[in-house]
Amino acid sequence: MRDLAALPKAHLHLHFTGSMRRTTLAELADRHGIRLPAVLLDADPLHVPADERGWFRFQRLYDAARACVRGEDDMRRVVTEAVEDDAAEGSGRLEIQVDPTSYAPFVGGLTPALEIVLDAAREASLATGVDVGVVVAASRMRHPLDARTLARLAVRHAGDGPGEVVGFGLSNDERRGDTSAFASAFAIARRAGLAAVPHGGELLGPAHVEDVLEHLHPDRLGHGVRSAEDPRVLDRVVDEGVALEVCPASNVSLGVYRSDADVPLRTLVEAGARVALGADDPLLFHARLLAQYEAARTVHGFSDAELAALARSSIVASRASDGVRSRLLAGVDAWLAQDPAAAPTAAGAPAGADAAAGAGAAEGTAADVDRASDADADAVDVRG
Ligand SMILES: [Zn+2]
Repeated sequence: MRDLAALPKAHLHLHFTGSMRRTTLAELADRHGIRLPAVLLDADPLHVPADERGWFRFQRLYDAARACVRGEDDMRRVVTEAVEDDAAEGSGRLEIQVDPTSYAPFVGGLTPALEIVLDAAREASLATGVDVGVVVAASRMRHPLDARTLARLAVRHAGDGPGEVVGFGLSNDERRGDTSAFASAFAIARRAGLAAVPHGGELLGPAHVEDVLEHLHPDRLGHGVRSAEDPRVLDRVVDEGVALEVCPASNVSLGVYRSDADVPLRTLVEAGARVALGADDPLLFHARLLAQYEAARTVHGFSDAELAALARSSIVASRASDGVRSRLLAGVDAWLAQDPAAAPTAAGAPAGADAAAGAGAAEGTAADVDRASDADADAVDVRG
């Protein structure tokens, strides 16, 4: 069996805060004297129902984690570690998504907040060899004029090199906000050549996918999995060449599907959709990029040739430069050309194994401390 960590891939759906290692979150919380809900540090992935209450719980935990990132050093660390973890799993291109709004107060404004992320992304690209672009994401929970401000900021840093902005997104609860009200922000981004990569079609169904297609003209959809529920909408997604950033672990954690097996990965791929697997928020869902490819293999029965096609699809859907894309695509061909019986271990495997062991060790400590302190015991027991 070929080693999936050695398969070159592009990671197109990863949120800044959601990428954090739990060990890092525990350390930052400790440093800043913040008490975290115990569930954020325990060994179980988040599991909530796909309703507004479930989303509220998810958002509350996410906000608690975000509140631990206070200033430039923390921000740089989050980016650096996200890239290191991607490198260990064979990602050759990461497009990390950030809404700089929450960090702006700690660093003197939106512009420095974004520039810190970009600079850290550039440095991490040099250090790891993973080519890192940034997606600036607006929130559905804020005024559409805020989205326009962020789009204009994103445009100033547009480019396809490491540490440049490649896309403009829209995140948060799909049930909130009027999609059409964000059209002008996306128009600003598109005019400057940024990819339009809004979320859509995860919590809401095919009608929402159409709404997003209609008003925001996406190049890629964050999730879009629910388009599988209507062949007409799925055909439209395929015909318009809209790639889908499919994040199975996220779908299951957020209650959209009961299990990995229920994620319609095969339906999407067989319809001809360009799929890029992503991790979304590994901090909460406890599965990084590699785990999504492993699930495609073990749960959905994808052969190595099909897994290579998924990796190619992610690379083609990325906004990496032509040179990076060609290099990664050649790597996919080389991976598939290997004799599976003699497949060598991934170059990144030792680092990944160390990181995992370290995370396991520190997690226990942090969770124990938190339980002992009885902090927020009532807060967010989302596992029941
Ligand atoms: Zn997302």
